[in-house]
Amino acid sequence: MARDRKKIVVFGSIVHDLISYTSRFPRPGESIRGKSFQQGAGGKGANQAVAAALLGAQVSMIGKVGDDIFADFNIASMGKAGVETSAVERMPGSTTGTATITVSEEAGGENSIVVTLGANMEMSPEAAEKAESMIASAAILLCQAEIPDAATKKALEIGSKHGVTTFLNPAPGDPNLDKSMLTFVDIICTNENEAEFITGIAAPTPVEAEKAARAMLERGPRVAIITLGPRGCLLAERTAADGIIVSFLPGERVKAVDTTGAGDCFCGTLVALLSSGISLKEAAARATKIASLSVMKRGTQSSYSSRVELIAAGR
Ligand code: ATP
Repeated sequence: MARDRKKIVVFGSIVHDLISYTSRFPRPGESIRGKSFQQGAGGKGANQAVAAALLGAQVSMIGKVGDDIFADFNIASMGKAGVETSAVERMPGSTTGTATITVSEEAGGENSIVVTLGANMEMSPEAAEKAESMIASAAILLCQAEIPDAATKKALEIGSKHGVTTFLNPAPGDPNLDKSMLTFVDIICTNENEAEFITGIAAPTPVEAEKAARAMLERGPRVAIITLGPRGCLLAERTAADGIIVSFLPGERVKAVDTTGAGDCFCGTLVALLSSGISLKEAAARATKIASLSVMKRGTQSSYSSRVELIAAGR
């Protein structure tokens, strides 16, 4: 299949968020009344696909959902954002991935979350092989770590084999991640914790983040990015001419109300900007600022800005 020079293919997770806002966490065996409830489409793969599509990128999602009402909700939400979902498979007898979230007032808005990955766990190396022609047709393949590692690794291997730019956000962080998949990765983007799981180097400051980013480059990728919450991100790029170039891109000072999904906004935005031909450093600087805007709104996908909104806001 011919390569579409702008197409992004996301191979990853779809998870439905069920959020109860409570005065406090229930104790084991106790039932308490929630104050309000919100549901939303989510999952790291879907969030990143939506963030990219909202910016006008051409995005296709490869993933699996169950045969339940959450499947319809999540497919519709991706479609509404402009994500092409023909490779999202409904698995008979399976449940769509869910995150059951309790947000406690007493705990200062802290949450406790049970994620049941359901159909996402049926993502497999065979699913990646089945999607080979779609992956091969992309300019960029975007993966996370919310489905079995073997599936992600196979998708990255296929992308790499076909000369597709492979992008890995190994989130949520898992110390047991199969790090051998990094040999198939061009661009890796982590937060501080994920960087530490991969390199063993704690990265709470830009100086330490640089050490961790350099260590990640030794494992295969040519670009390593570490997001640093409100401080922005650190970008390390291996170039043929100048060796490793490191840049620190500061975040925007904003009043954060909900940081959930900020990392997904960053990755989806960055990939969308790269696919439109913007240089890596410029794209990372803009993704940092656009992700900062997302933390000013509640929710995950609902907190992401569209291209039209960004233009209207002069961004
Ligand atoms: P999450 O797990 O909440 O999705 P993450 O830990 O993967 O996030 P972060 O490093 O916290 O990722 O944030 C990603 C980007 O979002 C940052 O680089 C920054 O641009 C923006 N961001 C996050 N938190 C804030 C904040 N409090 N103020 C401004 N920008 C923020």
